Amino acid sequence: MLFKNVIGQADVKAHLVNMVQQDRISHALLFLGKEGCGALPLAIAFAQYIVCEKVNRKTANAAAPAGPSLFGEEPAPSDSSHSPLTTHHLLDSCGECPSCQKMVQLMHPDIHFSYPVIPRKSGDKPLSSDYISEWREFIAKYPYGNSYDWLQFIGAENKQGNITAYECNEIIRKLSLKSFESGFKILVMWMPEYLGNEGNKLLKLIEEPPPDTLFILVAENESLILQTILSRTQLVKIPALTHQDISAALVEKAKMAQDPAMQIALIAEGNYREALQLMQHADEDWQSLLREWLNAILKNGPIAQVKWVEEVSKLGREKQKQFLRYFTHLLEQAIRLNAMGPANLHLPEKEKDFAARLNKIAAFLQQQAIIEELDKATYYIERNANPKMLFHALTIKLYHIIANKQAPAVI
Ligand SMILES: [Zn+2]
Repeated sequence: MLFKNVIGQADVKAHLVNMVQQDRISHALLFLGKEGCGALPLAIAFAQYIVCEKVNRKTANAAAPAGPSLFGEEPAPSDSSHSPLTTHHLLDSCGECPSCQKMVQLMHPDIHFSYPVIPRKSGDKPLSSDYISEWREFIAKYPYGNSYDWLQFIGAENKQGNITAYECNEIIRKLSLKSFESGFKILVMWMPEYLGNEGNKLLKLIEEPPPDTLFILVAENESLILQTILSRTQLVKIPALTHQDISAALVEKAKMAQDPAMQIALIAEGNYREALQLMQHADEDWQSLLREWLNAILKNGPIAQVKWVEEVSKLGREKQKQFLRYFTHLLEQAIRLNAMGPANLHLPEKEKDFAARLNKIAAFLQQQAIIEELDKATYYIERNANPKMLFHALTIKLYHIIANKQAPAVI
């Protein structure tokens, strides 16, 4: 993967290239960014950049014969022969050298991947590499996928993924080997959140790694990472994508027309995975479904509610999540509408109108309370809650939240 294949993130790319050019890479980096921002593709592109022979050769020339390595702890700023201008100017991997070719297939022998896996059968001691062919396929198809997508991809169903103690031993073993080709050894660990306390096995390695070894941890949620590991890494923050970047990517990569692409980008809020999901369900009429629900809650009573819950229960989890997300989006727009007025809202008329109606049935605090309930519901859907019970309970909660305000009977 080349940097240019990664959506947006120009600042992060420049920062990473700069680190290589100035020989200021720390031994352990934490790429931290929310779902759909592209932290994993960036990490892969970065690893490729480091091993690319065109980029690399120039480094070697500049550093020869006994100059500092790429991972030099203390680059000498006074060393003018080593200034960024004289080392190399390549801002991306070449995409053509043997190293790059191997990276296209994620088959470079010096670049290792760790990610959560499940036992194939009970009693198994699973390693990430047991799933390497699935991993290659997954990255090729869904580089912006999340851990839920991945675990479904390998058929985990309800099983929890893990980065196991066996995997930690395997990492220690792999990184103690000599580099095969590039002179470097790179471990990309995706989702260190799945590393339990066994992750402490890796501390010594992260703190005092063998020469020219690099850890790249790619995470979404800082608070779920072992503190001991966190404190030993250098943070590379990956921001959410801009909606311009998302909409451009939808047009270019997914061949969407400009207008619907921008509409989706605005709802996706910086998350390209979400944007792709929304695109797949672009034909869904979430607004009618939502109107039906609110009318059942506010006006039509229990029988209509039961009928609605039956209907939504059949949708399947991914669609249910999309629907809840759409509702959240409209509530957020309603809050914005109240605060900033209609002129500053970039929404299609139909949605603007709906947002205005939401402001009539619920005040700010109620809207906040509903958003919280929708968040919780999404969380439970991801964990296989029974959809009928979940949407039934949610219907009752919404009724009580909205009943706190003098509400008109119809939306
Ligand atoms: Zn190359």
